[in-house]
Amino acid sequence: MESVRNERSVYLNGAFVPESRALLSFRDSGFVYGDAVFDTARTFDGRLFRLKEHVDRLFDSLAYCRIAIDLDRQDIIDATEELVRRNRPLLAPGEDYWVSQRISRGVMQLDGEPPIQDGPTVLIECTPLPLRARAAMFRDGIEAVIAPLKRIPPEALSPNAKINNYMNAMLAQREVTAVRPGAWALQLDMNGNLAEGIGCNVFFVRNGKVQTPRTDYILPGVTRGAVIDLCRNNGIPVEERDIPLHLATTASESFFTSTSLCVCPVRSLNGRPYLGSAGPVTKRIMGLFADLVGMDYAAQYLSFLRDGPTRTGF
Ligand code: PMP
Repeated sequence: MESVRNERSVYLNGAFVPESRALLSFRDSGFVYGDAVFDTARTFDGRLFRLKEHVDRLFDSLAYCRIAIDLDRQDIIDATEELVRRNRPLLAPGEDYWVSQRISRGVMQLDGEPPIQDGPTVLIECTPLPLRARAAMFRDGIEAVIAPLKRIPPEALSPNAKINNYMNAMLAQREVTAVRPGAWALQLDMNGNLAEGIGCNVFFVRNGKVQTPRTDYILPGVTRGAVIDLCRNNGIPVEERDIPLHLATTASESFFTSTSLCVCPVRSLNGRPYLGSAGPVTKRIMGLFADLVGMDYAAQYLSFLRDGPTRTGF
């Protein structure tokens, strides 16, 4: 199959095809009902980071959603690595990829008609990270604002699984953007404690101690886990606990973690400033994370600094 020059490849149901040829049915249950799961890793200098952890979480999400695929974890790892190998030459200098596996229950069968597709839809794709749109966050810190919509509780749908339907998060972000353009939305859990940011986990620092919400009401981020390990291995006290608004607003520092952001300082919460654009403990953890991934990821973001609006998660 001829590919358009400089077009990325995507893995779709067993084959690598140019993106423009990766066609999905409009009857795919992922499109119709959001009946799908996904996971997203990133590259550092073209190398995938913690792919096994992302694929393990993907398989947990699949199991929770009762979606069965006939590929095993190693098949997904191999296909993901091959995808990055094929697309790496298309990365612009200094850029890196977001790499996602997206798996839906498949194409819905119509009553009395033969199936259009057997089994789930399996897609693996990559896109350049939003380095330009988020560069200023590494210079100024993120402005965080509590959203009016709470995180869906585990009694309704487990926030531990990475399920395609992000409407709760997207709407939370849009409500915040409507009143405070450029701010990043943070959601509370149903008890009024801090849950997580849109597509990221949140940490606070008080009296030199790092605190982050426990995993009951959030997605257990791969980056979150790496940061907790870094703290434990480097003598930085860290605890997972309920964080009511009072603790969050009286902390001295805060930062977000996610695959794309890595560790990114939060400069204010609902307009209350934290210690400068990045406090001392946040800076130390950013340095430890850069060592872990073998790259000064904040400098990578800053190298794409330009005039123009910053863009949040969604
Ligand atoms: N929470 C949510 C809801 C997310 O979508 C993400 C991004 N996957 C995270 C947290 C951060 O997780 P990770 O560090 O694995 O990217």
